[in-house]
Amino acid sequence: MPTHTITEDPLAWQETALCAQAGPEFFFPAPGSSTREAKILCGACEGRVACLEYALTHDERFGVWGGLSEKEREQLRRSGGSRR
Ligand code: SF4
Repeated sequence: MPTHTITEDPLAWQETALCAQAGPEFFFPAPGSSTREAKILCGACEGRVACLEYALTHDERFGVWGGLSEKEREQLRRSGGSRR
């Protein structure tokens, strides 16, 4: 299974992004809506790590990226950690 990192093409992971096959409502749900379905897709996405790194690097504030909601990414940023 190929993996993508941001040191190659920073957007290569988008070529195999499973979210591209789903509607944006899964990944940018209304406030209070479930992110469960999006996270399940992210769990099966081969670009998940690169996607999450991109979101953290670019300070993406909205939606599910790399399997984490905005709140979870904020918690990760505050802890100074990385979830792979
Ligand atoms: S990890 Fe999730 S948000 Fe990121 S590209 Fe894959 S399906 Fe889309």
